[in-house]
Amino acid sequence: MNIKDILEKNELTKEDLVTLMKIDNPTDLDLLFKKAYEVKAKYVGRKVYYRGLIEISNVCIKNCKYCGIRRDNHKVERFSMNKDEIMQAVKWIYDNNYGSIALQSGERQDSEFVDFIEDIIREIKKLSNGKLGITLSLGEQSYETYKRWFDAGAHRYLLRIESTNENIFKHIHPQDKKHEFQVRKRCLEFLRDIGYQVGTGVMIGMPNQTEEDLVNDILFYKDMKIDMIGMGPYILHKDTPLGQEWEDIVPTTEKRVELGLKMIAITRIFLKDVNIAATTALQGLDPLGREKGLLAGANILMPTATLQDYKGKYLLYDNKPGIDDSVERAKALLDEKVKSVGDEIVYGEWGDSPYFKRKNS
Ligand code: SAM
Ligand code: SF4
Repeated sequence: MNIKDILEKNELTKEDLVTLMKIDNPTDLDLLFKKAYEVKAKYVGRKVYYRGLIEISNVCIKNCKYCGIRRDNHKVERFSMNKDEIMQAVKWIYDNNYGSIALQSGERQDSEFVDFIEDIIREIKKLSNGKLGITLSLGEQSYETYKRWFDAGAHRYLLRIESTNENIFKHIHPQDKKHEFQVRKRCLEFLRDIGYQVGTGVMIGMPNQTEEDLVNDILFYKDMKIDMIGMGPYILHKDTPLGQEWEDIVPTTEKRVELGLKMIAITRIFLKDVNIAATTALQGLDPLGREKGLLAGANILMPTATLQDYKGKYLLYDNKPGIDDSVERAKALLDEKVKSVGDEIVYGEWGDSPYFKRKNS
């Protein structure tokens, strides 16, 4: 069956998805992206929602072998923003009428951290009269911790599964109790049971990751009833174990960007009304990555509002884009990009996942 026929089908099989994932010629790629944009327009609208991202700390108890801020990277200068600094960034996001905020950091599970986050969530709600939506991306926590943060006012949570191929998952994480696939999966279940809108995603374009693996990742999103997807290409960080091991065997930049865009497009076509982010990592490999992501079906952007002093210290991978731009400049550039695509930026609204509402109605 040719690509055009597959794209016209109402129900796609796994085999269809793998065929789409293997597309490698410009004509068929164009068909794929056009179809994904059509599905986006129909199910979530030609609209883009911003989540103002604050990277509040690069202190981490984990040692993921791909990540620049892993615990054992002693070259990193560690920082943790204090409450005033975080609230200064929150105020900027609120004053600029972004509907939502996203707090991200390295992972900590100690009670001081858990209390601090709970307090910050309440302060954000207070400052914005409940108007700012709050997304968290703070790693693996206990059910009780997730529940406390939810009760304080957070309503969306991002926790990437990184890869649903358990051999890859094992390879990219240390072999210890702190880095287990099943624990991560259980965290996603906790989050769903508590009532969060749940986001997950994977890194794309790792050595030995096949097209079928990526299709399995999309099937996992469906099985787990995931509401939001945040996924992007894997990018080397030279001071990490995988940055060194994979230096010469990582797929080319073009290949990783193409795979990243295909993942967005096929996820959009298959899952229809979930929220999908065009991530910074996509832009890290291609200056036009985020626009291309929107054209391939993404509807969420997460512009960073991290204070200038700290941006350069939250380096997950090499050549992270935008670390020298002020928040004002980053916003102006992004507004232009979205308009160039023809999408509308929606200010002042949460932009919840339509799938989440449909699932619960
Ligand atoms: N610590 C939390 C966690 O791991 O869920 C949140 C922050 S963590 C830095 C956010 C995401 O960054 C991870 O889920 C991972 O997918 C991504 N990331 C880390 N290193 C990366 C790399 N070298 N290339 C691409 N993405 C990376
Ligand atoms: Fe820590 Fe998250 Fe990086 Fe893993 S991916 S080392 S948990 S910040």
